[in-house]
Amino acid sequence: MAIRVGVIGTGAIGQDHIRRFSQALSGAVVTAVSDIDDVRARKVAKDIGGRAAATGRELIAADDVDAVVVTSIGSTHEEYVLAAIAAGKTVFCEKPLATTAAACKRIIDAEVKHGKRLVQVGFMRRYDAGYRMLKNAVTTGRIGTPLMAHCAHRNPAVGDNYTTDMAITDTVIHEIDVMRWLLDDEYVSAQIIYPKKTSKASSHLADPQIVLLETSSGARIDVEVFVNAVYGYDIQCELVGETGIARLPEPSNVLMRSQGQLGVEILTDWKQRFIGAYDVELQDWINAVTAGKATGPSSWDGYAAAVTADACVKAQITGKIVEIKLGEKPALYR
Ligand code: NAP
Repeated sequence: MAIRVGVIGTGAIGQDHIRRFSQALSGAVVTAVSDIDDVRARKVAKDIGGRAAATGRELIAADDVDAVVVTSIGSTHEEYVLAAIAAGKTVFCEKPLATTAAACKRIIDAEVKHGKRLVQVGFMRRYDAGYRMLKNAVTTGRIGTPLMAHCAHRNPAVGDNYTTDMAITDTVIHEIDVMRWLLDDEYVSAQIIYPKKTSKASSHLADPQIVLLETSSGARIDVEVFVNAVYGYDIQCELVGETGIARLPEPSNVLMRSQGQLGVEILTDWKQRFIGAYDVELQDWINAVTAGKATGPSSWDGYAAAVTADACVKAQITGKIVEIKLGEKPALYR
């Protein structure tokens, strides 16, 4: 029988995931939705033949909801994830798990007290075919022990409300998670370097930035984050190991001979770049919920990302190398 899913937050990614559950994935049906904007929630509910719950908390407690998806704004995630844990329901929470490391820790404490993993965080890059090939290159030893990694995260442009810290909390947060996963290592320090500023950035945004991360084994990761790169949405990652190098493949695209040029189009939309990863991620979650277990990125991963992001933001402000300390990982996440 299909699991009955309740979705809290019917904005951009919420509606995208609801479309996935309804049209692309199998084993789940969205029975209820909720949003602070009741009109939006009712419209989305009508489109899928479900119902609009009055509040997120009512949705979590409802008998017609087996598992919860949280796609509301980040500041609401802690409340809804804690309520789902209290109700003993599995919950998929879009990143960030919560907006502070302390709030992520409260979620970890509640889940550990519950005694079973219930939470999966939406770090979808772990489900991208290219990153999975990179992971395979590492785990099969084909490049030897990874020593360093060079990454780039470039967006064509950002809105005027995008601020310097968001380059970390909204953008590099994906590299923070995926590089931890690829190297199977924890971070110990962060530093930020500001290159010459692009004339395309607003007065309140330092762009580009270079984020330098160091892991406990001594590996070094540099991430160029450049959110007004104009030419496209471009994600790069190159792992340098003791015996070889592994590079993230370019997204497949038609090779064109046109207008005197030979080449492929560069994507401009992040949703297009990771569309396949979101599908695999949520199908994996449905399968895990159906099997009564949680397998994807955990609350601990959400917490580790939040602690690292905090250190990066502190490094932005102070210009110093900032130490990263996660503390003891609970047995539930080992
Ligand atoms: P969005 O379009 O603003 O949608 C968020 C929705 O939540 C809006 O409908 C908003 O209503 C609603 N909301 C606000 N407060 C609420 C509350 N207390 N209870 C229930 N609903 C509430 O944002 P989005 O782009 O979909 O992003 C949502 C989350 O997904 C964010 O945490 C974001 O970081 C994450 N995200 C992750 C990825 C990824 O790559 N994994 C990609 C995109 C987004 P109002 O508009 O009326 O405030």
